[in-house]
Amino acid sequence: MAKKANKIKAHSALLVEKVWLIIYQTPTMPEGKINSFLSLSTTLKKRTILIFNNLNKKKYLFKFFLIAIFFVIYALIVNQIKFHTKLKENNFDSFLESNELDSIKSYIFENLNSPYKEYSYTVENNDTLEKVLKKYNIDSNEINSIASEIVKKKLSNIYAGTKIQIVTKKENNTDKIISLFYPIDAITTVEIKRNEGKFDITKVELKLKRKEVVLSNTIKNNLYSSAVAAGIEPNIIVEFANIFGFEVDFQRDIRTGDTFEVYYEQYVDDDNVVRNTGKIIYASMFVNNKELSLYNFKHDNKEGYYDVDGKSVIKTLMKTPINGARLSSSFGMRKHPILGYNKLHQGTDFAASTGTPIMASGSGVILRAQKYKGYGNYVSIKHNSTYVTAYGHMSKYGRGIKKGVRVNQGRIIGYVGSTGMSTGPHLHYEVLKNGKRINSQRLKLPSGKILSNEARNKFEVDRIKIDVKLAELR
Ligand SMILES: [Zn+2]
Repeated sequence: MAKKANKIKAHSALLVEKVWLIIYQTPTMPEGKINSFLSLSTTLKKRTILIFNNLNKKKYLFKFFLIAIFFVIYALIVNQIKFHTKLKENNFDSFLESNELDSIKSYIFENLNSPYKEYSYTVENNDTLEKVLKKYNIDSNEINSIASEIVKKKLSNIYAGTKIQIVTKKENNTDKIISLFYPIDAITTVEIKRNEGKFDITKVELKLKRKEVVLSNTIKNNLYSSAVAAGIEPNIIVEFANIFGFEVDFQRDIRTGDTFEVYYEQYVDDDNVVRNTGKIIYASMFVNNKELSLYNFKHDNKEGYYDVDGKSVIKTLMKTPINGARLSSSFGMRKHPILGYNKLHQGTDFAASTGTPIMASGSGVILRAQKYKGYGNYVSIKHNSTYVTAYGHMSKYGRGIKKGVRVNQGRIIGYVGSTGMSTGPHLHYEVLKNGKRINSQRLKLPSGKILSNEARNKFEVDRIKIDVKLAELR
């Protein structure tokens, strides 16, 4: 009998220990719960000992108590397991939703003596891959060899805002590159992987299908928001505004109820998701009570836009190198908003929200793309021997905009901001004629050429083809 009782005693003690163990292994259990649980268990333990001391006298009572204790402990264990599982589930859900996963991943990489490290770097203005890699403790021989390889393969262009993924492995105090991924455009990713001391560099491209679409809308507030509402991609909107930039003053001509239509190329992936856009084939605006339709046509190996009469829209400079902006201050004498005294305002201000794209108002070469006096982030373009245009207060520069780069008319050179001496987001636009600042809004621009003879005939054929296609796609 005593033997049996000892066995039971040992068993119940074990059970109590197990319960404690469960409690201690539950790090996330509320403190109050632990305390009440512990005190209850202590009482149980004391009682068990008491019962064992009076074992012979109260044999039956003991059995009853033993069963009762067993059930109490059993119920508590089951309860704890349930509680704990629920807690884990909740924790796991919020864990997945939070950024904890990321930080834990980097924690593991950083603190558990793993030789591997993983980085995700967001490209900033004027970054080169070489510059980015130098920010990390990466073997300089590897940086040099990768940098020269990608230049050779013409895969070195990285763009602000995109992400570079880097995995390194620590070896003799420097980090060796294991893999490196970065996008170079909307559909192409460069993959660099270590392979037996060398690097395999591959260009991975999404396979895309060409598609033609016609989208149109009525303007409610401004062209940009109405075009977005019609499902037109931002770069097509910019291109559209660029094409019409010579004919339409987006600042003054557009009224609520004016309409537009655009026929252009989209490139879609296997899931029919638009990954890229191509050229505008046709664009039309009904503005100032007249319709203006422009057709894409290749003449002298150069694509351009021509009206129904075969007249090119190209002019030397745009009046408004920005879309969806409001002319907020014109050229002339004014009280300077910051300096407070009257001063000649030697440019034109267009108020627009931060981040609105700014276009090169004509083709040319970038003279300057850096901070400049009160202009803040500043770009100037030399168009020919006579004209230079300048753009101030930008929040950031356009992709690849650097001194010496040749840009085409309409290329995004930067984005509206409020850097330098500025009271709010706007574009300060200047036109310099022979070095002297002139009023861009009064500039008389030479008009475009008119197609004639054979070119005109070819244009008529193309134009009819486009009209037929338009009627089909509408
Ligand atoms: Zn200004």
